[in-house]
Amino acid sequence: MVVILEKNATDSQIENVIKHLEGFGFQIHKSIGAERTIIGAIGVKPNFDTRNISILDGVDEVYRVTTPYKLSSRSFHEANTVIKIKDVELGGNQIVMIAGPCSIENEDQIFRLAKVVAKSGAKILRGGAFKPRTSPYSFQGLGEEGLKLIRGAADENKLLVVTEVMQIEQIELIDRYTDIFQLGARNMQNFSLLKELGKTTKPVMVKRGIAATIEEWLMSAEYILNGGNKNVFLCERGIRTFENYTRNTFDLSAIPVVHKKSHLPIIADPSHATGLRDQVPPMARAAVAAGADGIMIEIHDDPENALSDGPQALLPNTYLKLMEELRLIAQAIGRKL
Ligand code: PEP
Ligand code: MN
Repeated sequence: MVVILEKNATDSQIENVIKHLEGFGFQIHKSIGAERTIIGAIGVKPNFDTRNISILDGVDEVYRVTTPYKLSSRSFHEANTVIKIKDVELGGNQIVMIAGPCSIENEDQIFRLAKVVAKSGAKILRGGAFKPRTSPYSFQGLGEEGLKLIRGAADENKLLVVTEVMQIEQIELIDRYTDIFQLGARNMQNFSLLKELGKTTKPVMVKRGIAATIEEWLMSAEYILNGGNKNVFLCERGIRTFENYTRNTFDLSAIPVVHKKSHLPIIADPSHATGLRDQVPPMARAAVAAGADGIMIEIHDDPENALSDGPQALLPNTYLKLMEELRLIAQAIGRKL
């Protein structure tokens, strides 16, 4: 940690800052410049709150030089983490495609869409059985019935399943049907849920919170890793900004940032990131070009009557065409899809 003193900080203020730093167990390196004194504090604990120092008289700025996340950081684990989910490897050279409806609606719908997903060459079927809806009057999901349907549809088409878990009480039930737990944006900082997911062994996809910084997102991954589950990957799904021509703002740059800061795989969800069908293919193409380890796309064959997120669902043919384009982009950057 680096502490920069104000230009006119007095000797006694500087001494007081040093006394506090030593009290917190830091080793001190003081350098006196022509204008300012700078103190290097060595031995920062991951959870040290720098405000304890910024609040002191005479302090101008405090900078952390280490990250508060450890297990999810690139410095802790230099090589990319590759997660093996049955015969699928996520985080390696292969770009993993996930597709399916927003919600599992009925048997016919999920079986029809699972066929489309398999035909496209994607390996993982998505679909929510427990839905986090802004309105209590909106469709809340089919619950266990939905889990049975998505498992059946996936098995019939040799696909894996990813589905959302909203509460601790659902973990055991969902674990019986899914291959991957989806932790939704609205639950990214549900710390008790994160801790419980840390005790499971199945991969967890951590979606970025609606207004979460990348650091907060990595701290959420840290909770699961710290609980003992090493199979964690991230999903950029757009963040809330002042822009309202799109549902969310797709933070494409989060992909290279996460790759630099962390060894965990990161995938992109251009469906929730944009919220409108016509914006999904361009952003999916951009995400592959930017280095995403996977792409998750919502599809529906009757989007006008979809029970959730119809406006952002791609029709099967548009989705199949997009897959061809993504393959070309993947090839251009030396990856497989
Ligand atoms: C979803 O994937 O269906 C979903 C609800 O996503 P998010 O948590 O990103 O809003
Ligand atoms: Mn959705």
